[in-house]
Amino acid sequence: MQRIAIIGGGAAGSAVVAQFLRNAADYDHSRGCALTWIVGDRAPGRGVAYETPDEQHLLNVRAANMGLFADRPGDFLDYAAARGIAASGGQFLPRSIYGDYLEATLAQLLNATRRRVTLGARSTEAVALRPLADGSFGLRTRDGDELRADGVVLALGALPPASLPGVSPSALASGYASDPWRWPPLPRAPQHVLVIGTGLTGVDALLSAAARWPQARLTAVSRRGRLPALHSEGPLAPYAEQAALLARLSEKNDLRHWLRAIRAAAAAPGADWRAVLDAVRAQTPRLWQALDTGQRARFLRHLRPAWEVVRHRMPPQTAVRLRALQENGRLRVLAARVRGIDGGDPLLLARLQPRGSTHPLTLGADFVIQATGLESAAASTPHALVRQLVDDGVVRPDPLGLGLAARPDGRLLRPDGSPWPGLYALGTLLRGSAWECTGMPEIRSAARDIARELPLAIGPPTRRAVA
Ligand SMILES: Cc1cc2nc3c(=O)[nH]c(=O)nc-3n(C[C@H](O)[C@H](O)[C@H](O)COP(=O)(O)OP(=O)(O)OC[C@H]3O[C@@H](n4cnc5c(N)ncnc54)[C@H](O)[C@@H]3O)c2cc1C
Repeated sequence: MQRIAIIGGGAAGSAVVAQFLRNAADYDHSRGCALTWIVGDRAPGRGVAYETPDEQHLLNVRAANMGLFADRPGDFLDYAAARGIAASGGQFLPRSIYGDYLEATLAQLLNATRRRVTLGARSTEAVALRPLADGSFGLRTRDGDELRADGVVLALGALPPASLPGVSPSALASGYASDPWRWPPLPRAPQHVLVIGTGLTGVDALLSAAARWPQARLTAVSRRGRLPALHSEGPLAPYAEQAALLARLSEKNDLRHWLRAIRAAAAAPGADWRAVLDAVRAQTPRLWQALDTGQRARFLRHLRPAWEVVRHRMPPQTAVRLRALQENGRLRVLAARVRGIDGGDPLLLARLQPRGSTHPLTLGADFVIQATGLESAAASTPHALVRQLVDDGVVRPDPLGLGLAARPDGRLLRPDGSPWPGLYALGTLLRGSAWECTGMPEIRSAARDIARELPLAIGPPTRRAVA
């Protein structure tokens, strides 16, 4: 019996668990598999993205491509139809419906009779993981339990957000949300809400704040002050010249060459830049892996902000809501760097350096939400398990702060660069090895591969070499 632990109860953990359960009928590695799912302190299944009850929070991938399994992308659409939700495959449905779908799919799989795979879920946090001499891993949980596993999958999501440098302790103690999904209780309804970050998470925060406090003015700030680009109204035809473009990109592992090729493709008559980018998406991990550390660093410094705007697009309905807020004067978007946040009694004071100006600006707000993106810096994280793994030299952080060093298949690397046979990750922790790894289309493919390869990598317990 192989013992496999899956750590993390979000959508990535769900995808891995679901895939193992789905494979149960033909599981033949050493007579079966005992899965332990360590889900943390949230209800298992949905995770950060899909536990929102706010109907304004929409998926940013069309319904037809959000199925949990790589070979059944239309599954979510079928689920919506069975629930009586009249939706086309091209629509962007509320994320809460997707959360229901995840829960329903898992429940269905759990109810099915299985002979070879068992599942036990634990509502606790894994805080330490140590390799043992027999090739297995010892795991410790927050409540002091110890367990053994032959293989482990880290599906931890993003690391805990660190507050921006320059935010004073008094600001942190009064009306500053470092985590955009967990707002602190406020003594009164805020009159002015400042959202730091204008990506998809910032947009969600703006829409929620606007609905919750209809009197509040809203300011969104980011270095360039650019909101996400828009998805097209309906699905686009696949980019016809995909093969030629990918061949062109393969000619040279060089960012400038790629940028030129993608720009030229997008500017060609009849081409839609979104279809061009979508054509590159499936190859992004391969392209990223072809870059050396210096080129990756250059991408992060110079191209990342523009990439985020065009790659992580918002549904047209979301843009309509934002525009209405802007037009009625409730929302303004600023291009400025946040130098610091002080005060808190009663107002928080944000010190901003507007882009292209030498004059600093101070803005008063009674609630500040930090929505600056998914945290992935493993070397400095307070996340107990990742901290221990790095400090004990079990794994090594990505040199650019993009999660943990891993092979393209998700196997984590020891500090000497060799892969652990039975220790995998998926999702945000793999930013450094895959770049494109956080959307459900990537997560479900990774889950499928892990459920296939991990049992082979660890082998039957009786035949595993004793170290
Ligand atoms: C707001 C938002 C909207 C998004 N919308 C879309 C979308 O529309 N379409 C799409 O394809 N993608 C979307 N994404 C991308 C998203 O990252 C993935 O779809 C998916 O939700 C990621 O799930 P995850 O399990 O990796 O992370 P998470 O949802 O963060 O789940 C990780 C879980 O692991 C738990 N955990 C962490 N450490 C431990 C530990 N030591 N022990 C136990 N448990 C632990 C955490 O508490 C958490 O519950 C969105 C992301 C966000 C943030």
